Amino acid sequence: MASTSDVAAAAARKVNENGGFPTQEQTPPGLTGEMNPRPDHGEQSYVGHGRLRGLRALITGGDSGIGRAVAIAFAREGASVALSYLDSEEEDARETAELVRAADEEVALLPGDLMQRTVCGELPGRAVQALGGVDVLINNAGFQMARTPGIEELRDEDLNRVLTTNLQALFWLTRATVPLLQRGSSIINTTSIQAYEPSTTLLDYAATKAAINNFTVNLAGELGSRGIRVNAVAPGPIWTPLQPATQEGEHLETFGGDTPLGRAGQPAEVAPAYVFLASPAEASYVSGTVIGVTGGKAVF
Ligand code: NAD
Ligand code: MG
Repeated sequence: MASTSDVAAAAARKVNENGGFPTQEQTPPGLTGEMNPRPDHGEQSYVGHGRLRGLRALITGGDSGIGRAVAIAFAREGASVALSYLDSEEEDARETAELVRAADEEVALLPGDLMQRTVCGELPGRAVQALGGVDVLINNAGFQMARTPGIEELRDEDLNRVLTTNLQALFWLTRATVPLLQRGSSIINTTSIQAYEPSTTLLDYAATKAAINNFTVNLAGELGSRGIRVNAVAPGPIWTPLQPATQEGEHLETFGGDTPLGRAGQPAEVAPAYVFLASPAEASYVSGTVIGVTGGKAVF
């Protein structure tokens, strides 16, 4: 196993001198196998310490990117996982499932389009059926379209996909999951640096992430008395399929180069924040907060 400093060094080696990656484009939602270079999800580096032993986590967007790194870390910490993803991502989901099984943990593959209310409504029940319960809900699925030049060109189709995937589905899925959660359970939402420092090309996406921050603190207020914690992680620029699938290909050359650390992050570098927030022992008094994993950009 590599040490933590090896992981950071490896991550830094994978980016070009501008902090970014070779020009490339995919069609959304994008696949890991088509990325150059392949992201680091902690496959070789993440070492678990039993911090989530016996927990059962439902991870949306669990097939790839940040969701895959979280699935690997959770499994190595002793949690079983249910992965939600789109039908077209079956290949990625199977790869993630193999990595979870290699850690001797149970994994459930639960494909479905979260833009459909019934899919969100049924997902928690499917996870309970497969794993025996749900203790952690990770609302991580998301969509953006950064190829829009401005508000006048914003297409209804993209706007609807961004608002429904990032926000409405999060409400639907959380509403259906909360009745299944016990005291000590938690909800972790994936927000973004875009909530604090919005890019003009991500007008709609940034607005959903700001709303997710608000949702996080407000729901923490509601569920605190039931012993359920609600938190969020705000990643900065991270090398995942979302980027080649939704950015102009050449923009990736400098992707992440404007952060204080001067490079994009790898999914493996984001996962530990979710482990901490899910840990009933370590984060027992942490609720209603957002942890930034931004390469140095401010999250306030
Ligand atoms: P990713 O493409 O690997 O993950 C996004 C996942 O969302 C997809 O794998 C897909 O399974 C899921 N998804 C999208 N639409 C869906 C739908 N309609 N139904 C079901 N699932 C759907 O990319 P990622 O970067 O790991 O994204 C994970 C989260 O991180 C997203 O919420 C994203 O907004 C957020 N984020 C990413 C970055 C970054 O730079 N990569 C930065 C900040 C926040
Ligand atoms: Mg994916």
